[in-house]
Amino acid sequence: MKLITMSHNYQTGAVQKISDVVLGTSGIIKNAERYNGKNVLFCGVIYMAEDLYTMADDVRVFIPEITVKGGEVLRPRCPMIAYQGRSSIITMRDVKKARKLKPDIILSYINTPLSIKGETDGVYNGTSAFESIDKIAETNKRGIAVLIGDVNVNAWITVKTAQNHPEFTIISMPADGVYCPPHIDIDSKEFISTWEELAKAHGEKNVGLEMHPEVNSDLRSFGFEKNAYFGGTDGLVKEPLGSDKKVWLIGTVEGIIDRIKTLTNQKELHSPCIICPPMAYTTTSKVERAREILENGGPTATIYYRHPEEPYYDVEIHREELITKRGDGGMRIPAVELAIDDEIKEKGRKALSVLL
Ligand code: SF4
Repeated sequence: MKLITMSHNYQTGAVQKISDVVLGTSGIIKNAERYNGKNVLFCGVIYMAEDLYTMADDVRVFIPEITVKGGEVLRPRCPMIAYQGRSSIITMRDVKKARKLKPDIILSYINTPLSIKGETDGVYNGTSAFESIDKIAETNKRGIAVLIGDVNVNAWITVKTAQNHPEFTIISMPADGVYCPPHIDIDSKEFISTWEELAKAHGEKNVGLEMHPEVNSDLRSFGFEKNAYFGGTDGLVKEPLGSDKKVWLIGTVEGIIDRIKTLTNQKELHSPCIICPPMAYTTTSKVERAREILENGGPTATIYYRHPEEPYYDVEIHREELITKRGDGGMRIPAVELAIDDEIKEKGRKALSVLL
């Protein structure tokens, strides 16, 4: 089987190194058609693999190793989608509540299960929300948009929208807030003190500053004050590459630093050195094992996205002997194929197409 290994920008540098292509989520969606009819081993969190499957035709998408229990994929999965610690999660209930508010538009954040994306008017990844909002504001300056997603991204969009459309209303859901643990854990004091040291050493105008909008409110305010670039992972890779500034302080997951370093050795990059645990679950040895299994007999199991609400997947085992059973009833399954119900895929594709 001819296999393309694709990694997300937040994968560790080691996994990126053994991949054929490395992209951010918007890059995966925009370039999905290139993988029509191909076999892709995807290294990232599971919703990204679903987005690739949804946006490409006849693609076969494989995932190196998953941990699954009772139809729930526990890993590698973003905590906004499955409760893994502190963040709340996005569910269909949020979409139903949003509909009752009768807004002009309901957008779901990119880190949302596919079936939930498909019940909204479109998907946003931060920057793309502005286009949807601008379109509504052209005819209705007092429009209302409900954003179901990361509370910090929503706060960033609200501030930026107020600058251009002061009468426009953004409603952030869910009310109890979903967020990205690695991003809110960036130590703001330490980050700002690194910035001050760099600014002192090189001159403030010579130091680039960028961050992901999932960062906490202290860093967001600091970013606004210093006119930092805010963007998704593809944007965070491109911004330093297209700039004359040599020194950069980057507020996001470490994989971005590895990615930029593979594209240029002309930049001095500083970061808070945080990792995304669900991404770090995929290691080089898991990727290599999956390749070997796929080349010698095919996938160990298929996870079939069949249900609109949790648990989303039915698991069909093909090679029992390769599965590790855990004491709690869970299983570790190497080399899994993903399949998605046609209706969930079609609705999801419509919502994701907003990003094209
Ligand atoms: S960086 Fe945060 S939002 Fe992105 S996958 Fe990891 S936990 Fe989820």
